[in-house]
Amino acid sequence: MIQYRILETGFFLADGGAMFGAIPKRAWSRKYPSDEQNCCLLAMNCLLVWNEDRVVLLDTGVGSKDLGKLSYYQFSRLNDIADLVRSQGFEPAQVTDVVLSHLHFDHCGGCTYRDSLDRLKITFPKAMHWVGKSQWESYLSPNELEKYSFRAQDMLPVAEAGLLRLVDVDFELFEGFGLKLFDGHTQGQLVSFIETGEDKICLFPGDVIPTKAHLSGEWISAYDIAPLESLAAKTKLATFGTGKKETFVFYHDAYTSIFHSTTKKF
Ligand SMILES: [Zn+2]
Repeated sequence: MIQYRILETGFFLADGGAMFGAIPKRAWSRKYPSDEQNCCLLAMNCLLVWNEDRVVLLDTGVGSKDLGKLSYYQFSRLNDIADLVRSQGFEPAQVTDVVLSHLHFDHCGGCTYRDSLDRLKITFPKAMHWVGKSQWESYLSPNELEKYSFRAQDMLPVAEAGLLRLVDVDFELFEGFGLKLFDGHTQGQLVSFIETGEDKICLFPGDVIPTKAHLSGEWISAYDIAPLESLAAKTKLATFGTGKKETFVFYHDAYTSIFHSTTKKF
């Protein structure tokens, strides 16, 4: 029996225009609030998934290290991912797998931390860290649009420790836990499909669908490197036909982190 729990690692601010791309503010402001400077509050909702054999963490938040250079994002209410895992009754060394939707700092920063002597340490030292192969290639040689979204200190120690596992085809991590590849926001994102009951499935789409408002096909963030592929990715997600009651966990939605979908039509 697979169980799951959302772990709220914190919040930050992003420009509303950037979040909703070509969608006019008079439309998106009805679905997502913003402040007087047009900033939207975004969450970083990770997911802990476990059964008798495996403890799996989906994304790790921005973490606690080197946030000075990212002060523009005004991170707030940050919670340590290791403490959040402990709060569910697991030690960080018991985490067997970390599945990273992609490697932008707000999703994988928590994979490493700095100890009191400023040495980089791996937060989940026994976990296999799963990453899309083309995402890893983008991480190693980023394009111009993404070069500030990837940080060497987040994932290189994981790779050097031999804990990185690359995914280049859709597959089942274990019975009831599927991983599928999507492009659009960035190359080689991993979306997790978790069967949580006979007729229930939980989807963790990462930045393929960052908030509930982004369920609509054309509501595409200006951060996405390939908007047409984002649209195709959402269509693919919408038409998979899992045949089950779907629950979406939105990584960035500060207001609707969990959403039970009743229709296949977004
Ligand atoms: Zn993100």
